[in-house]
Formats: sequence, C-alpha cells, structure tokens
Amino acid sequence: MRALNVIMLGPPGAGKGTQAARLARDLAVPKISTGDILREAVQAGTPLGLAAKGLMDAGRLVSDDIMIGIVRERLQREDARRGVVLDGFPRTLPQAVALDEMVKTAGELHVLFVKVPFDELVRRLTTRRICGSCGTNAPPEAGPDDRCPTCGGRFVQRTDDDGEVVKERLRVYERQTGPLVAHYESGAHFTCIDGNQSLERVADDIRRAVRTGGSAEEMRRT
Ligand code: AMP
Repeated sequence: MRALNVIMLGPPGAGKGTQAARLARDLAVPKISTGDILREAVQAGTPLGLAAKGLMDAGRLVSDDIMIGIVRERLQREDARRGVVLDGFPRTLPQAVALDEMVKTAGELHVLFVKVPFDELVRRLTTRRICGSCGTNAPPEAGPDDRCPTCGGRFVQRTDDDGEVVKERLRVYERQTGPLVAHYESGAHFTCIDGNQSLERVADDIRRAVRTGGSAEEMRRT
C-alpha cells in the first residue's frame, strides 16, 4: 500500500495541531509535531531541549540541520511507513527540500495550507492554553480550574504565547515559512483550507481535501 503523507502548513494559531491530531486519528497514522517533540525535549532537559529552549522562548526557529535530523529519524520508524501527518514541519525552504527528498518514493504528499486572518491569529495565540503535562490544547470553553481530559494535567499558557513573542513568531512565519506556499502550490495535491471556521467545518474541509486529493479548482474556490 502506498503511504499518504500530509503536511499541515500555516501560521502559528491556525489550528494545525488540533486538526493534525484529528486527521492522524482518522487516517490511523502518527501525527508528527516538531513543536511537541521540542517541548518534550525541553521538559526532559535533554541537550536538544537545552539548545532549543532559548530560541523557542524568543519565537525564533531551531536550526534546519537539527530539525531535518529529527524528522528524518522519526520518518524511519516502523509506524511511519503507512504515512504521517506533519504539524510544524517544514518551516523553511531547506526543510521543505529535505522533506521532498525523504518522501519522494514513499507515496502521495498532500499539502493543506490553513489560512486565518492575522488579528484572529493574535487573539487565538494570546488566549490559548495547553496541558502542562501532555501538551493537548485546552478546549475553548475550559474554565480556569478545569483539568486536561486526556491526562488530568493543569492547563497553562505556552511560554511562547506571550504578546511580543507571538508577534515575533508571526513575523518569522511570514519571512521564513510563507514562501513554502509558492514551493508547494503548483504541486498535484495542494489545498487551501479556510481555518477561520468552526473546528468541525475545518475538519470536514480537510477530510474532503484529503479524499479528493486537492486540486487547482478546489483551491480557487476557497
Ligand atoms: P509550534 O508548536 O509548531 O508552534 O513550534 C514551537 C516552536 O518550536 C517554534 O516557534 C520554533 O521555535 C520551534 N520549532 C518547531 N518546529 C520547528 C521547525 N520545523 N523548524 C524550526 N523550529 C521549529
């Protein structure tokens, strides 16, 4: 069976992580979130975590060599053979070129570009909370004392979701990740998804895009 690899592309706060988790569950493939991998390394105090923490807290990117190495190793694991959903990678052109090479014989590559207006991104990022233990996003309706439904952990603000750092992350996105749209949009399976809708509607659009394979016509309609 040919693998189905999906890239969730889009700015911080577009909902990529939440939607990637759903899609990965639907497709029964692993979700690979480079942000989660780095946050786990920071929590565990590994050399990778120590090297990444300062950059992450400043809203800057970790080096391409490190990130490409992490993803290359992760894609070689047995559970990735049927495909993966990538969240937060690639984020630069060199990462995209390296990924193209890694998956070129592995089956189909779908790119879902999730778009959300700038002001809405800032609002989402500065108000969102995640579980301090397992990293799951808090549901929007969660109260201050509610606990994570997955592991019972407390919800906290991400250290890089602070106002000024959010603006820097969005600037870094524009400069370094934005050009990836041009890199992928002429490919066979590129779809632009309106991320400024309810979670359910975004999930439906994503399911449809993956089922139909994405097409230039679909992109023009969105
Ligand atoms: P995220 O959870 O995807 O918003 O990522 C959080 C932070 O981890 C980013 O602001 C970067 O500092 C770092 N990071 C995650 N993925 C990458 C990547 N592919 N390349 C470089 N840095 C990354």
